[in-house]
Amino acid sequence: MQYYRFLFQPVLRNISQCVSPIRQRQRPNSVPFQIRLRLQQCVSMQEGGSKVTAKNGGEGKVASKRKGEPVEAGGKKQPKVVPPKEGKKKREEGWLESEVTEARRAAQGVKFNEKRLRFLSEAQKVKQGTQGVLYWMSRDQRVQDNWALIYAQQLAVTEELPLHVCFCLQPQSPDATLREYSFILKGLEEIAKECSVLGIEFHLLLGTAGEVLPGFVRDWSLGAVVTDFSPLRIPLKWVEDVKKGLPTDVPFMQVDAHNVVPCWVASDKQEYSARTIRGKITKLLPEFLTQFPLVDKHPHSASKPAKLVDWASTLSTVEVDRSVGEVEWARPGTAAGMAMLESFMDTRLRDYASERNNPNSDALSQLSPWIHFGHISAQRAVLQVQRNGANRAQSVPAFVEELVVRRELADNFCFYNKNYDKVEGASDWARKTLMDHAKDPRQYVYSKEQLEKAKTHDRLWNAAQYQMVTEGKMHGFLRMYWAKKILEWTSSPEEALAIAIYLNDRYELDGRDPNGFVGCMWSICGIHDQGWKERPIFGKIRYMNYAGCTRKFNVQQFEKQYCPK
Ligand SMILES: Cc1cc2nc3c(=O)[nH]c(=O)nc-3n(C[C@H](O)[C@H](O)[C@H](O)COP(=O)(O)OP(=O)(O)OC[C@H]3O[C@@H](n4cnc5c(N)ncnc54)[C@H](O)[C@@H]3O)c2cc1C
Repeated sequence: MQYYRFLFQPVLRNISQCVSPIRQRQRPNSVPFQIRLRLQQCVSMQEGGSKVTAKNGGEGKVASKRKGEPVEAGGKKQPKVVPPKEGKKKREEGWLESEVTEARRAAQGVKFNEKRLRFLSEAQKVKQGTQGVLYWMSRDQRVQDNWALIYAQQLAVTEELPLHVCFCLQPQSPDATLREYSFILKGLEEIAKECSVLGIEFHLLLGTAGEVLPGFVRDWSLGAVVTDFSPLRIPLKWVEDVKKGLPTDVPFMQVDAHNVVPCWVASDKQEYSARTIRGKITKLLPEFLTQFPLVDKHPHSASKPAKLVDWASTLSTVEVDRSVGEVEWARPGTAAGMAMLESFMDTRLRDYASERNNPNSDALSQLSPWIHFGHISAQRAVLQVQRNGANRAQSVPAFVEELVVRRELADNFCFYNKNYDKVEGASDWARKTLMDHAKDPRQYVYSKEQLEKAKTHDRLWNAAQYQMVTEGKMHGFLRMYWAKKILEWTSSPEEALAIAIYLNDRYELDGRDPNGFVGCMWSICGIHDQGWKERPIFGKIRYMNYAGCTRKFNVQQFEKQYCPK
């Protein structure tokens, strides 16, 4: 991500590379999600609707809404449509899907690398006389480009058994938001349709996995369970609970379908920094950065069909916090994620290396929501960006660094450090310096409520907070500034970390992710970083300030666009 680059590489050269094009360019209409038009067209066409036109005056209301009211996220949508840039002729929309389908067909013979898998049970052979193989989908919510499902299908084909997929949804989850649940459920609806075309039974199970999954396996007489992998505490607990409840003769397997290099293969210990994991991952890429074979029509049908799901009714009855609503720009599901990837390669990749630290510039991939929910695979994104980015000499490696090295470093941290979201999880030097300065006087002290409502003296911070609350995604550069200011303006590092994680996970569409814990821990507790010049409150933790931001991008432009009055 931007911050490491901004930190470790020759800073002045990068800054001058960044700043000059920004000044020249002056994109007055630049909004963060210019791809929105294409996405909306794609979705409205799928829904049989008419195409969105760019010149309608209604869209202009977005700006006034942003500037207006206090921060709230009450499910308001902010449709924003920006005309596509004029310029050289683009490939026909949807080109990526055909390119990828062809690549999957060509990879039909690619073998599943068993290092992606680990057995969680004593039993290792599919139970005989059973009625199917189950993929319990959790972190990787997609059909294609999913090593866990590919493996489950290969197992089912070998055993001549039907294939089932299930997802466990907690119908009551007061900490979760409508924003999150809607993204999940709408993505699952797409998956259920895809499964039905492929002759795979999709089941939505209501309840936590430990409560519902073992009974489901017995009722359906399933002979093996495959699941995907997350290093976070709650999903690890679900896996433990399922393990305890499953019949002992049913094998239970876990496939890391999220990382390019499986987390347990990349390293067997907590890595100190990107520097120490980069070489390990890079060395393993030739082995793991392979094409995905197609998840094809399954040759063995189940004796009875899965219960049909009423998706609309499920979404309207789940008990979640409905005050944080859906966002319009990010449509859930694999198709929309692939459209976002396509638009990145068509229009934004070009500027990624030089402008990704500029919050006014439209240079990021915007892929994090789809990657977080597993709607698209990071490995797929890398393969396609490498294939299509021949003329983007600097942007391709910069993007791969974020998407593979930094992202997989975050999984490494959470997997090997059980205090990944606590000050105790920081290095000794960082804990000591934070403790030494814990009692330093603070010029401003804000409560969680004040911060949540973007009521600080700092217009840039308020604007960033407002961007997150209303759009569900804060620009990556500002996330660092935002979290560091929370350290400066609260009573203790523990409080700062808890508030940053709370806000991040409540509003960011990509929240509740190892990247989020690591982002907050990096900003507040210096993980994966080094000590810097000692100063009040921060101690040796790297400092950021408003003046520094004004030297890097047009802060006023950003404030004007996002800051509530
Ligand atoms: C305080 C703080 C909180 C953060 N919270 C989250 C979060 O909740 N979820 C989340 O996915 N990321 C988080 N990040 C990391 C980063 O800011 C986002 O991944 C990025 O801004 C997402 O936007 P993008 O997909 O357009 O990024 P791009 O720059 O286009 O990057 C592409 C992908 O690379 C990965 N990536 C980029 N930067 C990083 C990074 N620093 N560390 C790990 N992976 C990275 C992400 O998967 C991202 O989608 C946080 C960073 C900080 C400093």
